[in-house]
Amino acid sequence: MVDAPAVLVIGGGSTGCGIARDLAMRGFDVTLVEKGNLTNGTTGRMHGLLHSGGRYAVSDQASAKECIKENRVLRDIASHCVEMTEGLFIQRPEDSDAYFQEKLQGCRECDIPATVLSAEETKAKEPAVAGDIERSIAVPDGAIDPFRLCVANALSAQRHGARIETHAEVTDVLVEDDTVVGCVVRHDTGPGKRTHRTPGTTEEIRADYVVNATGAWAGQIGDLAGVDIEVRPSKGAMVIMNVRQVDTVINRCRPKGDADIIVPHETTAILGTTDEEVDDPEEYPEEQWEVDLMIEELSELVPILRESRTIRSFWGVRPLYEPPGTGTTDPTDITRDFFLLDHKERDGLAGMTSIVGGKFTTYRMMAERITDHVCEQFGIRADCRTADEPLPGSEDFEVLRDHMEAFGLRSPIGRRSTQRLGSRAEKVLTTDGPNPVLCECEAVTRAEIQDAIDQSGTDLNAVRIRTRASMGNCQGGLCCHRMANELHPEHEEPTVRTALDELYQERWKGQRHALWGEQLSQAMLNHVLHGTTMNRDHDPARQETLDFDAFDTGTDRTRDSNGD
Ligand SMILES: Cc1cc2nc3c(=O)[nH]c(=O)nc-3n(C[C@H](O)[C@H](O)[C@H](O)COP(=O)(O)OP(=O)(O)OC[C@H]3O[C@@H](n4cnc5c(N)ncnc54)[C@H](O)[C@@H]3O)c2cc1C
Repeated sequence: MVDAPAVLVIGGGSTGCGIARDLAMRGFDVTLVEKGNLTNGTTGRMHGLLHSGGRYAVSDQASAKECIKENRVLRDIASHCVEMTEGLFIQRPEDSDAYFQEKLQGCRECDIPATVLSAEETKAKEPAVAGDIERSIAVPDGAIDPFRLCVANALSAQRHGARIETHAEVTDVLVEDDTVVGCVVRHDTGPGKRTHRTPGTTEEIRADYVVNATGAWAGQIGDLAGVDIEVRPSKGAMVIMNVRQVDTVINRCRPKGDADIIVPHETTAILGTTDEEVDDPEEYPEEQWEVDLMIEELSELVPILRESRTIRSFWGVRPLYEPPGTGTTDPTDITRDFFLLDHKERDGLAGMTSIVGGKFTTYRMMAERITDHVCEQFGIRADCRTADEPLPGSEDFEVLRDHMEAFGLRSPIGRRSTQRLGSRAEKVLTTDGPNPVLCECEAVTRAEIQDAIDQSGTDLNAVRIRTRASMGNCQGGLCCHRMANELHPEHEEPTVRTALDELYQERWKGQRHALWGEQLSQAMLNHVLHGTTMNRDHDPARQETLDFDAFDTGTDRTRDSNGD
Protein backbone atom coordinates (compact mmCIF):
# COMPACT_ATOMS: atom_id res chain seq x y z
CA MET A 1 0.00 0.00 0.00
CA VAL A 2 1.69 3.20 -1.19
CA ASP A 3 -0.06 5.67 1.13
CA ALA A 4 -0.43 3.33 4.06
CA PRO A 5 -0.75 5.23 7.34
CA ALA A 6 2.34 4.89 9.51
CA VAL A 7 1.67 3.42 12.94
CA LEU A 8 4.22 3.31 15.74
CA VAL A 9 3.65 0.55 18.29
CA ILE A 10 5.47 0.96 21.62
CA GLY A 11 6.23 -2.28 23.50
CA GLY A 12 7.54 -5.66 22.32
CA GLY A 13 5.54 -7.93 24.63
CA SER A 14 2.79 -10.27 23.45
CA THR A 15 0.35 -7.38 23.04
CA GLY A 16 2.70 -5.15 21.01
CA CYS A 17 3.97 -8.00 18.82
CA GLY A 18 0.39 -9.17 18.20
CA ILE A 19 -0.68 -5.63 17.29
CA ALA A 20 2.30 -5.16 14.94
CA ARG A 21 1.40 -8.40 13.16
CA ASP A 22 -2.27 -7.52 12.77
CA LEU A 23 -1.61 -3.94 11.62
CA ALA A 24 1.02 -5.10 9.12
CA MET A 25 -1.28 -7.82 7.78
CA ARG A 26 -3.96 -5.18 7.24
CA GLY A 27 -1.58 -3.06 5.19
CA PHE A 28 -0.33 -0.43 7.64
CA ASP A 29 3.24 0.85 7.60
CA VAL A 30 4.28 -0.42 11.03
CA THR A 31 7.24 0.24 13.30
CA LEU A 32 7.50 -1.48 16.67
CA VAL A 33 9.94 -0.17 19.27
CA GLU A 34 10.93 -2.09 22.38
CA LYS A 35 13.37 -0.82 24.97
CA GLY A 36 14.86 -4.26 25.70
CA ASN A 37 14.69 -7.53 23.90
CA LEU A 38 11.31 -8.90 22.73
CA THR A 39 9.48 -10.22 25.85
CA ASN A 40 11.60 -7.95 28.08
CA GLY A 41 8.57 -7.05 30.25
CA THR A 42 5.79 -9.13 31.78
CA THR A 43 5.51 -11.43 28.78
CA GLY A 44 8.92 -12.92 29.52
CA ARG A 45 8.02 -13.32 33.19
CA MET A 46 4.65 -15.03 33.26
CA HIS A 47 3.41 -18.43 34.30
CA GLY A 48 3.12 -19.97 30.85
CA LEU A 49 -0.51 -21.03 31.29
CA LEU A 50 -2.72 -21.09 28.23
CA HIS A 51 -5.92 -20.43 30.16
CA SER A 52 -8.98 -22.51 29.43
CA GLY A 53 -10.89 -19.82 31.30
CA GLY A 54 -11.58 -22.24 34.18
CA ARG A 55 -9.66 -20.01 36.57
CA TYR A 56 -12.08 -17.13 35.95
CA ALA A 57 -15.27 -19.18 35.53
CA VAL A 58 -16.67 -18.05 38.88
CA SER A 59 -15.09 -14.64 39.47
CA ASP A 60 -14.97 -13.08 35.99
CA GLN A 61 -17.05 -14.83 33.37
CA ALA A 62 -16.41 -12.28 30.63
CA SER A 63 -12.67 -13.03 30.86
CA ALA A 64 -13.35 -16.77 31.07
CA LYS A 65 -15.30 -16.69 27.79
CA GLU A 66 -12.55 -14.72 26.05
CA CYS A 67 -9.95 -17.21 27.33
CA ILE A 68 -11.67 -20.32 25.99
CA LYS A 69 -12.25 -18.64 22.64
CA GLU A 70 -8.60 -17.63 22.29
CA ASN A 71 -7.40 -20.95 23.73
CA ARG A 72 -9.02 -22.61 20.71
CA VAL A 73 -7.57 -20.06 18.28
CA LEU A 74 -4.02 -20.36 19.62
CA ARG A 75 -4.10 -24.13 19.42
CA ASP A 76 -4.75 -23.64 15.69
CA ILE A 77 -2.46 -20.78 14.76
CA ALA A 78 0.39 -21.38 17.23
CA SER A 79 0.56 -25.14 17.57
CA HIS A 80 4.36 -25.06 17.90
CA CYS A 81 4.08 -22.80 20.95
CA VAL A 82 1.33 -24.73 22.74
CA GLU A 83 1.33 -28.01 24.64
CA MET A 84 -2.17 -29.16 25.46
CA THR A 85 -1.46 -30.65 28.86
CA GLU A 86 -5.04 -30.31 30.16
CA GLY A 87 -5.71 -28.92 33.61
CA LEU A 88 -7.22 -30.18 36.83
CA PHE A 89 -9.02 -28.14 39.49
CA ILE A 90 -8.38 -30.29 42.54
CA GLN A 91 -10.55 -30.29 45.66
CA ARG A 92 -8.85 -31.12 48.95
CA PRO A 93 -10.90 -32.27 51.99
CA GLU A 94 -10.77 -28.76 53.48
CA ASP A 95 -12.02 -27.10 50.24
CA SER A 96 -15.74 -26.37 49.98
CA ASP A 97 -18.20 -28.53 48.00
CA ALA A 98 -20.25 -25.44 47.20
CA TYR A 99 -17.27 -23.80 45.46
CA PHE A 100 -16.55 -27.00 43.51
CA GLN A 101 -20.12 -26.95 42.19
CA GLU A 102 -19.92 -23.23 41.42
CA LYS A 103 -16.72 -23.82 39.42
CA LEU A 104 -18.32 -26.65 37.44
CA GLN A 105 -21.43 -24.61 36.76
CA GLY A 106 -19.32 -21.57 35.82
CA CYS A 107 -17.32 -23.61 33.30
CA ARG A 108 -20.52 -24.86 31.71
CA GLU A 109 -21.96 -21.35 31.51
CA CYS A 110 -18.79 -20.17 29.76
CA ASP A 111 -18.65 -23.04 27.23
CA ILE A 112 -15.50 -24.48 28.84
CA PRO A 113 -15.48 -28.30 28.48
CA ALA A 114 -15.38 -29.60 32.07
CA THR A 115 -15.46 -33.18 33.37
CA VAL A 116 -15.63 -34.31 37.00
CA LEU A 117 -13.02 -36.94 37.92
CA SER A 118 -13.14 -39.02 41.09
CA ALA A 119 -10.10 -39.12 43.39
CA GLU A 120 -9.03 -42.43 41.80
CA GLU A 121 -9.44 -41.10 38.25
CA THR A 122 -7.51 -37.97 39.19
CA LYS A 123 -4.63 -40.01 40.63
CA ALA A 124 -4.59 -42.30 37.62
CA LYS A 125 -4.16 -39.25 35.41
CA GLU A 126 -1.70 -37.44 37.66
CA PRO A 127 0.05 -39.85 40.04
CA ALA A 128 1.95 -37.14 41.92
CA VAL A 129 -1.15 -35.60 43.52
CA ALA A 130 -1.75 -36.03 47.26
CA GLY A 131 -3.37 -39.26 48.46
CA ASP A 132 -6.18 -37.54 50.36
CA ILE A 133 -7.73 -35.37 47.63
CA GLU A 134 -11.51 -35.50 47.10
CA ARG A 135 -11.98 -35.11 43.33
CA SER A 136 -11.22 -32.77 40.46
CA ILE A 137 -12.59 -31.00 37.39
CA ALA A 138 -10.67 -31.56 34.13
CA VAL A 139 -10.51 -28.56 31.75
CA PRO A 140 -8.56 -27.78 28.55
CA ASP A 141 -5.75 -25.74 30.15
CA GLY A 142 -2.40 -25.87 28.39
CA ALA A 143 1.18 -24.65 28.54
CA ILE A 144 2.39 -21.96 26.16
CA ASP A 145 5.84 -20.66 25.34
CA PRO A 146 5.69 -16.86 25.47
CA PHE A 147 9.14 -16.38 23.92
CA ARG A 148 8.44 -18.46 20.85
CA LEU A 149 5.01 -16.92 20.41
CA CYS A 150 6.30 -13.33 20.49
CA VAL A 151 9.13 -14.07 18.11
CA ALA A 152 6.70 -15.78 15.72
CA ASN A 153 4.41 -12.73 15.80
CA ALA A 154 7.33 -10.35 15.23
CA LEU A 155 8.63 -12.51 12.38
CA SER A 156 5.20 -12.55 10.77
CA ALA A 157 4.91 -8.76 11.15
CA GLN A 158 8.32 -8.38 9.53
CA ARG A 159 7.30 -10.62 6.65
CA HIS A 160 4.38 -8.23 6.13
CA GLY A 161 6.76 -5.28 5.97
CA ALA A 162 6.98 -4.10 9.60
CA ARG A 163 10.16 -2.68 11.12
CA ILE A 164 10.85 -4.33 14.49
CA GLU A 165 13.34 -2.33 16.52
CA THR A 166 14.52 -3.74 19.83
CA HIS A 167 16.81 -2.00 22.34
CA ALA A 168 15.06 1.23 21.38
CA GLU A 169 13.47 3.13 24.25
CA VAL A 170 10.84 5.82 23.83
CA THR A 171 12.16 8.81 25.77
CA ASP A 172 9.63 11.38 24.62
CA VAL A 173 6.24 11.51 22.95
CA LEU A 174 5.95 14.25 20.32
CA VAL A 175 2.77 16.31 20.64
CA GLU A 176 1.78 19.07 18.18
CA ASP A 177 -1.59 20.86 18.33
CA ASP A 178 -3.05 18.40 20.83
CA THR A 179 -2.09 15.52 18.55
CA VAL A 180 0.55 12.85 19.04
CA VAL A 181 2.77 12.83 15.94
CA GLY A 182 5.47 10.37 16.94
CA CYS A 183 8.13 9.60 19.52
CA VAL A 184 11.77 10.14 20.28
CA VAL A 185 13.61 6.86 20.60
CA ARG A 186 17.01 6.26 22.13
CA HIS A 187 18.97 3.35 20.68
CA ASP A 188 20.93 1.44 23.26
CA THR A 189 22.69 -1.37 21.56
CA GLY A 190 22.22 -3.20 18.32
CA PRO A 191 23.77 -6.64 18.41
CA GLY A 192 23.60 -8.98 15.51
CA LYS A 193 22.92 -8.81 11.83
CA ARG A 194 19.64 -6.93 12.03
CA THR A 195 19.70 -3.30 11.00
CA HIS A 196 19.84 -1.15 14.10
CA ARG A 197 20.61 2.49 14.56
CA THR A 198 23.91 3.37 16.20
CA PRO A 199 23.88 2.78 19.98
CA GLY A 200 23.70 6.02 21.94
CA THR A 201 21.93 7.91 19.15
CA THR A 202 18.38 9.18 19.25
CA GLU A 203 15.86 9.01 16.45
CA GLU A 204 12.62 10.88 15.91
CA ILE A 205 10.02 8.49 14.55
CA ARG A 206 7.07 10.40 13.07
CA ALA A 207 3.82 8.48 12.77
CA ASP A 208 0.20 9.02 11.80
CA TYR A 209 -0.84 7.07 14.88
CA VAL A 210 0.81 5.73 18.04
CA VAL A 211 -0.28 2.66 19.99
CA ASN A 212 0.96 2.46 23.56
CA ALA A 213 1.26 -1.27 24.33
CA THR A 214 3.73 -1.00 27.20
CA GLY A 215 1.65 -2.93 29.74
CA ALA A 216 2.72 -2.10 33.29
CA TRP A 217 4.78 0.80 31.88
CA ALA A 218 1.79 2.39 30.08
CA GLY A 219 1.51 5.09 32.77
CA GLN A 220 5.09 6.19 32.07
CA ILE A 221 4.35 6.68 28.36
CA GLY A 222 1.16 8.49 29.43
CA ASP A 223 3.30 10.85 31.52
CA LEU A 224 5.50 11.62 28.50
CA ALA A 225 2.37 12.44 26.48
CA GLY A 226 0.80 14.46 29.31
CA VAL A 227 -2.12 12.10 30.05
CA ASP A 228 -2.91 10.13 33.16
CA ILE A 229 -3.10 6.32 32.84
CA GLU A 230 -3.85 4.63 36.16
CA VAL A 231 -2.06 1.31 35.75
CA ARG A 232 -1.92 -0.70 38.99
CA PRO A 233 1.20 -2.89 38.63
CA SER A 234 0.92 -6.05 40.71
CA LYS A 235 3.88 -8.38 41.18
CA GLY A 236 3.77 -12.16 41.23
CA ALA A 237 6.51 -14.67 42.11
CA MET A 238 7.10 -17.93 40.27
CA VAL A 239 9.39 -20.81 41.17
CA ILE A 240 10.92 -23.22 38.63
CA MET A 241 11.42 -26.84 39.65
CA ASN A 242 14.16 -29.04 38.19
CA VAL A 243 11.86 -31.60 36.56
CA ARG A 244 8.27 -31.90 35.48
CA GLN A 245 6.73 -33.23 38.65
CA VAL A 246 3.32 -33.07 36.95
CA ASP A 247 2.17 -33.42 33.36
CA THR A 248 -1.11 -31.52 33.71
CA VAL A 249 -1.76 -27.99 34.94
CA ILE A 250 -2.69 -28.37 38.61
CA ASN A 251 -5.04 -25.76 40.10
CA ARG A 252 -6.41 -25.66 43.62
CA CYS A 253 -10.22 -25.63 43.48
CA ARG A 254 -10.89 -22.79 45.86
CA PRO A 255 -11.41 -19.04 45.44
CA LYS A 256 -8.39 -17.36 43.85
CA GLY A 257 -5.44 -16.98 46.20
CA ASP A 258 -1.67 -17.12 46.43
CA ALA A 259 0.32 -20.19 45.38
CA ASP A 260 -2.40 -22.24 43.77
CA ILE A 261 -1.16 -23.28 40.30
CA ILE A 262 1.52 -25.59 38.92
CA VAL A 263 2.19 -25.41 35.19
CA PRO A 264 4.31 -28.13 33.53
CA HIS A 265 6.58 -26.30 31.15
CA GLU A 266 8.98 -28.12 28.81
CA THR A 267 11.34 -30.01 31.15
CA THR A 268 10.25 -28.13 34.29
CA ALA A 269 7.25 -27.30 36.43
CA ILE A 270 6.52 -23.67 37.33
CA LEU A 271 4.85 -22.92 40.66
CA GLY A 272 2.92 -19.68 41.16
CA THR A 273 2.06 -17.13 42.24
CA THR A 274 1.55 -14.10 44.47
CA ASP A 275 -0.34 -10.87 43.80
CA GLU A 276 0.96 -7.68 45.43
CA GLU A 277 0.57 -4.13 44.24
CA VAL A 278 3.87 -2.31 43.59
CA ASP A 279 4.72 1.32 42.76
CA ASP A 280 7.29 0.78 40.05
CA PRO A 281 7.18 -2.05 37.46
CA GLU A 282 10.96 -2.30 37.52
CA GLU A 283 12.00 -1.67 41.14
CA TYR A 284 10.24 -3.88 43.66
CA PRO A 285 11.38 -6.32 46.34
CA GLU A 286 11.82 -9.99 45.43
CA GLU A 287 11.20 -11.68 48.74
CA GLN A 288 12.18 -15.07 50.07
CA TRP A 289 8.81 -15.61 51.79
CA GLU A 290 7.12 -15.62 48.39
CA VAL A 291 9.33 -18.50 47.22
CA ASP A 292 8.82 -20.44 50.47
CA LEU A 293 5.06 -19.94 50.22
CA MET A 294 4.94 -21.62 46.81
CA ILE A 295 6.59 -24.79 48.06
CA GLU A 296 4.61 -24.88 51.32
CA GLU A 297 1.14 -24.33 49.81
CA LEU A 298 1.54 -26.33 46.64
CA SER A 299 3.01 -29.34 48.47
CA GLU A 300 -0.50 -29.84 49.84
CA LEU A 301 -1.55 -30.71 46.29
CA VAL A 302 1.68 -32.36 45.12
CA PRO A 303 3.68 -33.59 48.17
CA ILE A 304 6.81 -34.53 46.19
CA LEU A 305 7.52 -30.80 45.78
CA ARG A 306 8.78 -30.74 49.38
CA GLU A 307 11.77 -32.92 48.44
CA SER A 308 12.26 -31.56 44.94
CA ARG A 309 14.93 -29.24 43.73
CA THR A 310 14.15 -25.61 42.96
CA ILE A 311 16.36 -24.27 40.20
CA ARG A 312 15.37 -20.61 40.08
CA SER A 313 12.66 -18.08 40.84
CA PHE A 314 11.46 -15.04 38.94
CA TRP A 315 8.92 -12.26 39.26
CA GLY A 316 6.57 -10.54 36.82
CA VAL A 317 4.34 -7.50 37.10
CA ARG A 318 0.71 -7.58 35.96
CA PRO A 319 -0.38 -4.55 33.95
CA LEU A 320 -3.69 -4.29 35.83
CA TYR A 321 -5.99 -1.40 35.11
CA GLU A 322 -9.25 -0.29 36.49
CA PRO A 323 -11.32 2.63 35.30
CA PRO A 324 -11.02 5.74 37.51
CA GLY A 325 -13.37 5.80 40.50
CA THR A 326 -13.65 2.01 40.97
CA GLY A 327 -11.56 2.20 44.15
CA THR A 328 -10.57 -1.49 44.54
CA THR A 329 -8.07 -1.94 47.37
CA ASP A 330 -7.15 -5.61 46.92
CA PRO A 331 -5.21 -6.20 43.66
CA THR A 332 -6.65 -9.72 43.36
CA ASP A 333 -10.08 -8.08 42.91
CA ILE A 334 -9.00 -5.89 40.00
CA THR A 335 -10.44 -7.19 36.76
CA ARG A 336 -8.17 -9.15 34.37
CA ASP A 337 -10.06 -7.63 31.46
CA PHE A 338 -8.38 -5.27 29.02
CA PHE A 339 -9.21 -1.65 28.22
CA LEU A 340 -8.67 0.42 25.15
CA LEU A 341 -8.04 4.04 26.12
CA ASP A 342 -8.59 6.38 23.21
CA HIS A 343 -6.80 9.49 24.40
CA LYS A 344 -8.74 11.72 22.02
CA GLU A 345 -12.07 10.73 23.55
CA ARG A 346 -10.70 10.52 27.08
CA ASP A 347 -8.17 13.36 27.31
CA GLY A 348 -8.58 15.48 24.16
CA LEU A 349 -5.22 14.20 22.84
CA ALA A 350 -5.57 12.84 19.29
CA GLY A 351 -3.30 10.33 17.56
CA MET A 352 -2.70 7.86 20.37
CA THR A 353 -4.49 4.96 22.04
CA SER A 354 -3.24 2.86 24.95
CA ILE A 355 -4.15 -0.74 25.57
CA VAL A 356 -3.89 -1.91 29.16
CA GLY A 357 -4.81 -4.92 31.29
CA GLY A 358 -5.68 -8.29 29.81
CA LYS A 359 -3.82 -11.55 29.74
CA PHE A 360 -1.26 -13.27 27.60
CA THR A 361 -3.89 -15.81 26.50
CA THR A 362 -6.04 -13.03 25.03
CA TYR A 363 -3.20 -11.05 23.37
CA ARG A 364 -4.46 -11.78 19.83
CA MET A 365 -7.98 -10.63 20.62
CA MET A 366 -6.58 -7.45 22.18
CA ALA A 367 -4.51 -6.88 19.05
CA GLU A 368 -7.57 -7.40 16.85
CA ARG A 369 -9.64 -4.88 18.83
CA ILE A 370 -6.97 -2.20 18.74
CA THR A 371 -6.27 -2.77 15.05
CA ASP A 372 -10.01 -2.44 14.33
CA HIS A 373 -9.87 0.81 16.28
CA VAL A 374 -6.87 2.13 14.30
CA CYS A 375 -8.63 1.15 11.04
CA GLU A 376 -11.64 3.22 12.12
CA GLN A 377 -9.44 6.27 12.68
CA PHE A 378 -8.37 6.16 9.02
CA GLY A 379 -11.64 4.92 7.52
CA ILE A 380 -9.87 1.73 6.40
CA ARG A 381 -11.89 -1.45 5.90
CA ALA A 382 -9.67 -4.51 6.18
CA ASP A 383 -10.59 -7.78 7.82
CA CYS A 384 -8.56 -9.30 10.62
CA ARG A 385 -6.86 -12.54 9.51
CA THR A 386 -4.75 -13.32 12.57
CA ALA A 387 -7.16 -15.96 13.89
CA ASP A 388 -6.97 -17.89 10.62
CA GLU A 389 -3.41 -17.58 9.37
CA PRO A 390 -0.94 -19.75 11.30
CA LEU A 391 2.12 -18.14 12.76
CA PRO A 392 5.52 -18.92 11.22
CA GLY A 393 6.51 -22.36 12.45
CA SER A 394 2.97 -23.69 12.86
CA GLU A 395 1.54 -23.44 9.39
CA ASP A 396 0.56 -27.06 9.34
CA PHE A 397 0.69 -29.55 12.16
CA GLU A 398 1.11 -32.38 9.67
CA VAL A 399 4.34 -30.72 8.60
CA LEU A 400 5.61 -31.10 12.14
CA ARG A 401 4.83 -34.79 12.20
CA ASP A 402 6.27 -35.39 8.74
CA HIS A 403 9.47 -33.67 9.74
CA MET A 404 9.82 -35.90 12.72
CA GLU A 405 9.71 -38.87 10.40
CA ALA A 406 11.96 -37.28 7.80
CA PHE A 407 14.70 -36.56 10.29
CA GLY A 408 14.30 -39.91 12.02
CA LEU A 409 13.31 -37.96 15.06
CA ARG A 410 12.35 -40.67 17.43
CA SER A 411 14.94 -39.51 19.92
CA PRO A 412 13.79 -36.99 22.50
CA ILE A 413 16.37 -34.53 21.18
CA GLY A 414 15.06 -34.62 17.64
CA ARG A 415 11.46 -34.59 18.78
CA ARG A 416 12.02 -31.55 20.93
CA SER A 417 13.95 -29.71 18.21
CA THR A 418 11.11 -30.35 15.80
CA GLN A 419 8.51 -29.23 18.31
CA ARG A 420 10.43 -26.03 18.92
CA LEU A 421 10.98 -25.24 15.25
CA GLY A 422 7.64 -26.39 13.87
CA SER A 423 7.48 -26.10 10.10
CA ARG A 424 10.94 -24.48 9.99
CA ALA A 425 12.54 -27.71 11.19
CA GLU A 426 13.78 -28.96 7.82
CA LYS A 427 15.39 -25.68 6.87
CA VAL A 428 17.15 -25.30 10.21
CA LEU A 429 18.18 -28.88 10.86
CA THR A 430 19.48 -29.63 7.37
CA THR A 431 23.21 -29.18 7.75
CA ASP A 432 26.29 -30.76 6.21
CA GLY A 433 28.41 -30.11 9.27
CA PRO A 434 28.39 -31.89 12.61
CA ASN A 435 25.39 -31.01 14.73
CA PRO A 436 26.24 -31.83 18.34
CA VAL A 437 24.00 -31.06 21.29
CA LEU A 438 25.37 -27.90 22.90
CA CYS A 439 22.82 -27.61 25.70
CA GLU A 440 22.34 -31.04 27.22
CA CYS A 441 19.62 -30.16 29.73
CA GLU A 442 17.27 -28.79 27.06
CA ALA A 443 18.61 -30.86 24.17
CA VAL A 444 19.47 -27.96 21.88
CA THR A 445 21.73 -28.64 18.92
CA ARG A 446 24.31 -26.44 17.23
CA ALA A 447 22.06 -26.01 14.16
CA GLU A 448 19.36 -24.44 16.32
CA ILE A 449 21.83 -22.16 18.07
CA GLN A 450 23.24 -21.05 14.72
CA ASP A 451 19.73 -20.43 13.41
CA ALA A 452 18.95 -18.28 16.45
CA ILE A 453 22.24 -16.39 16.03
CA ASP A 454 21.24 -15.72 12.42
CA GLN A 455 18.05 -14.13 13.73
CA SER A 456 19.36 -12.26 16.74
CA GLY A 457 23.11 -11.90 16.36
CA THR A 458 25.38 -11.64 19.35
CA ASP A 459 22.62 -11.23 21.92
CA LEU A 460 22.83 -14.63 23.59
CA ASN A 461 19.80 -13.90 25.74
CA ALA A 462 17.84 -13.60 22.50
CA VAL A 463 19.36 -16.93 21.40
CA ARG A 464 18.26 -18.36 24.74
CA ILE A 465 14.63 -17.33 24.38
CA ARG A 466 14.47 -18.73 20.87
CA THR A 467 15.97 -22.12 21.71
CA ARG A 468 15.71 -22.64 25.52
CA ALA A 469 19.46 -23.29 25.64
CA SER A 470 20.82 -22.53 29.18
CA MET A 471 17.34 -22.72 30.73
CA GLY A 472 17.59 -26.26 32.11
CA ASN A 473 18.91 -27.89 35.26
CA CYS A 474 22.45 -26.55 35.00
CA GLN A 475 21.23 -22.99 34.35
CA GLY A 476 23.91 -22.41 31.77
CA GLY A 477 26.82 -23.79 33.76
CA LEU A 478 27.63 -26.34 31.07
CA CYS A 479 26.49 -24.55 27.94
CA CYS A 480 26.83 -20.74 28.20
CA HIS A 481 30.41 -20.83 26.99
CA ARG A 482 29.55 -23.31 24.23
CA MET A 483 26.87 -20.92 23.04
CA ALA A 484 29.34 -18.03 23.12
CA ASN A 485 31.83 -20.12 21.18
CA GLU A 486 29.32 -20.33 18.33
CA LEU A 487 29.69 -16.57 17.83
CA HIS A 488 33.35 -17.01 16.97
CA PRO A 489 35.07 -16.41 14.53
CA GLU A 490 32.40 -14.23 12.93
CA HIS A 491 32.47 -11.88 15.91
CA GLU A 492 35.52 -10.50 17.65
CA GLU A 493 36.66 -11.85 21.00
CA PRO A 494 35.56 -8.81 23.15
CA THR A 495 32.03 -9.01 21.70
CA VAL A 496 31.87 -12.73 22.41
CA ARG A 497 33.13 -12.17 25.94
CA THR A 498 30.49 -9.48 26.62
CA ALA A 499 27.75 -11.71 25.24
CA LEU A 500 28.87 -14.56 27.49
CA ASP A 501 28.95 -12.28 30.54
CA GLU A 502 25.45 -10.98 29.86
CA LEU A 503 23.99 -14.44 29.44
CA TYR A 504 25.75 -15.86 32.47
CA GLN A 505 24.69 -12.89 34.61
CA GLU A 506 21.09 -13.32 33.48
CA ARG A 507 21.14 -17.01 34.46
CA TRP A 508 22.69 -16.24 37.86
CA LYS A 509 20.10 -13.57 38.70
CA GLY A 510 17.26 -16.05 39.02
CA GLN A 511 19.12 -18.56 41.17
CA ARG A 512 19.73 -16.33 44.18
CA HIS A 513 16.50 -17.35 45.91
CA ALA A 514 16.99 -21.05 45.20
CA LEU A 515 20.36 -21.62 46.82
CA TRP A 516 19.79 -24.56 49.03
CA GLY A 517 20.17 -28.35 48.70
CA GLU A 518 21.15 -29.62 45.29
CA GLN A 519 20.77 -26.26 43.59
CA LEU A 520 23.40 -24.80 45.91
CA SER A 521 25.75 -27.61 44.83
CA GLN A 522 24.92 -26.88 41.19
CA ALA A 523 25.63 -23.16 41.66
CA MET A 524 28.95 -23.98 43.32
CA LEU A 525 29.83 -26.31 40.46
CA ASN A 526 28.96 -23.57 37.96
CA HIS A 527 31.09 -21.11 39.89
CA VAL A 528 34.02 -23.50 39.93
CA LEU A 529 33.63 -24.24 36.22
CA HIS A 530 33.40 -20.61 35.21
CA GLY A 531 35.37 -18.89 37.95
CA THR A 532 38.22 -21.34 38.31
CA THR A 533 38.54 -23.54 35.23
CA MET A 534 38.04 -20.64 32.85
CA ASN A 535 39.46 -18.18 35.37
CA ARG A 536 36.63 -15.78 34.64
CA ASP A 537 36.79 -14.10 38.03
CA HIS A 538 40.47 -13.16 37.67
CA ASP A 539 40.93 -13.23 33.95
CA PRO A 540 44.10 -11.28 33.04
CA ALA A 541 42.74 -10.74 29.53
CA ARG A 542 40.17 -8.38 31.00
CA GLN A 543 42.91 -5.88 31.79
CA GLU A 544 43.59 -3.27 29.17
CA THR A 545 47.11 -4.60 28.57
CA LEU A 546 48.58 -7.90 29.56
CA ASP A 547 51.62 -7.89 31.82
CA PHE A 548 53.37 -10.96 30.44
CA ASP A 549 56.40 -10.36 32.68
CA ALA A 550 54.21 -11.12 35.66
CA PHE A 551 53.87 -14.76 34.54
CA ASP A 552 56.13 -17.47 35.90
CA THR A 553 58.80 -18.20 33.30
CA GLY A 554 58.92 -21.86 34.36
CA THR A 555 61.95 -24.09 34.68
CA ASP A 556 64.93 -23.94 32.36
CA ARG A 557 63.82 -26.33 29.62
CA THR A 558 67.29 -26.74 28.04
CA ARG A 559 68.82 -27.96 31.24
CA ASP A 560 65.85 -30.24 31.91
CA SER A 561 66.03 -31.86 28.50
CA ASN A 562 69.73 -32.49 28.90
CA GLY A 563 69.04 -34.22 32.11
CA ASP A 564 71.47 -31.95 34.02
C1 LIG B 1 3.08 -13.35 37.74
C2 LIG B 1 2.29 -13.33 36.48
C3 LIG B 1 1.82 -14.51 35.93
C4 LIG B 1 1.05 -14.48 34.78
N1 LIG B 1 0.64 -15.64 34.25
C5 LIG B 1 -0.12 -15.64 33.13
C6 LIG B 1 -0.51 -16.88 32.55
O1 LIG B 1 -0.11 -17.94 33.00
N2 LIG B 1 -1.30 -16.83 31.45
C7 LIG B 1 -1.73 -15.65 30.91
O2 LIG B 1 -2.48 -15.70 29.94
N3 LIG B 1 -1.34 -14.45 31.41
C8 LIG B 1 -0.53 -14.44 32.51
N4 LIG B 1 -0.09 -13.26 33.03
C9 LIG B 1 -0.48 -12.01 32.38
C10 LIG B 1 0.40 -11.75 31.15
O3 LIG B 1 1.72 -12.10 31.41
C11 LIG B 1 0.36 -10.29 30.75
O4 LIG B 1 -0.95 -9.86 30.68
C12 LIG B 1 1.01 -10.06 29.38
O5 LIG B 1 2.26 -10.71 29.30
C13 LIG B 1 1.20 -8.58 29.14
O6 LIG B 1 1.83 -8.39 27.91
P1 LIG B 1 2.07 -6.95 27.35
O7 LIG B 1 2.64 -7.09 26.00
O8 LIG B 1 0.80 -6.17 27.46
O9 LIG B 1 3.10 -6.30 28.37
P2 LIG B 1 4.68 -6.55 28.47
O10 LIG B 1 5.04 -7.94 28.15
O11 LIG B 1 5.13 -6.01 29.78
O12 LIG B 1 5.25 -5.66 27.31
C14 LIG B 1 5.43 -4.26 27.42
C15 LIG B 1 6.78 -3.93 26.84
O13 LIG B 1 6.92 -2.51 26.76
C16 LIG B 1 8.30 -2.22 26.90
N5 LIG B 1 8.48 -0.82 27.25
C17 LIG B 1 8.17 -0.21 28.42
N6 LIG B 1 8.49 1.08 28.37
C18 LIG B 1 9.02 1.30 27.14
C19 LIG B 1 9.57 2.44 26.49
N7 LIG B 1 9.64 3.62 27.10
N8 LIG B 1 10.04 2.31 25.22
C20 LIG B 1 9.99 1.11 24.58
N9 LIG B 1 9.49 0.00 25.17
C21 LIG B 1 9.01 0.09 26.42
C22 LIG B 1 8.74 -3.18 28.01
O14 LIG B 1 10.14 -3.40 27.99
C23 LIG B 1 7.93 -4.43 27.70
O15 LIG B 1 8.68 -5.40 26.99
C24 LIG B 1 0.72 -13.25 34.16
C25 LIG B 1 1.23 -12.07 34.69
C26 LIG B 1 2.04 -12.11 35.82
C27 LIG B 1 2.62 -10.86 36.35
